[in-house]
Amino acid sequence: MKEDILHNLKDISRRIQNACEKAGRNPEEVKLLLATKTVSAERIKIALENGQTLIAENKVQELKEKYEDLKNTPHESHFIGHLQTNKVKDILKYDVTCVQSLDRLELAEKLHQRLSAENKTLEVLLQVNTSNEESKFGVSPNDAIELTRKVSEFSTLKIKGLMTIGLFSAETEKVRSCFKILKNIQQDIIRENIPGVEMKELSMGMSGDLETAIEEGATIVRVGTAVFGARIYPDSYYWDEGNNNKEE
Ligand SMILES: *Cc1c(COP(=O)(O)O)cnc(C)c1O
Repeated sequence: MKEDILHNLKDISRRIQNACEKAGRNPEEVKLLLATKTVSAERIKIALENGQTLIAENKVQELKEKYEDLKNTPHESHFIGHLQTNKVKDILKYDVTCVQSLDRLELAEKLHQRLSAENKTLEVLLQVNTSNEESKFGVSPNDAIELTRKVSEFSTLKIKGLMTIGLFSAETEKVRSCFKILKNIQQDIIRENIPGVEMKELSMGMSGDLETAIEEGATIVRVGTAVFGARIYPDSYYWDEGNNNKEE
């Protein structure tokens, strides 16, 4: 188990390195985030004890279940799943430093309320639906600037960039166009010069498409299966509107 994870991590850092070389980028510009849904705390710890520092969950329930086991192993924790407004209070208990999946004003309002009450701030990325698939969450590209503007007015939320899940397709150019859309929105927002808004981070690319994402400017790639192996649940369990609402 340990050997597999270490071997896979080496493999991923080689892939990141090669993609950066090909794109003429400095590998230090690209952070590896481990997507740890369904992965046990024990397996996550192996990665954290061997050089990894950044992990993320999709569900508050899993965050909660693993929290005690991981809390004494240094790491940073992001959230990358659909966040229901009734889970906002919970998520703030588990030391999440960045919610990458902020996709609607209502959620921003709820986060701001709780954060204000607790005298805290939170980093956020706006999730954009660049593949135009109904099954994926995210603000539509056309509404991204307006949402950025509105979220920027909440003093507790620090916008650091954008996140997207690319199209699942074997056709690289179709996947690439999702990443290009995100990059273009980033450039548009930068031009708007909105006070308090940083657009440094582009969180895009996963196990299957991280090279393409890096070529298009990713600063965070989110990798699960290529490090920890296949999951028993299909991704639709985490991403589809219908299924996601079943979380208790
Ligand atoms: C699961 C997940 C990933 C990682 O996907 P893999 O294909 O396993 O690398 C990345 N981003 C999000 C939002 C995820 O839910």
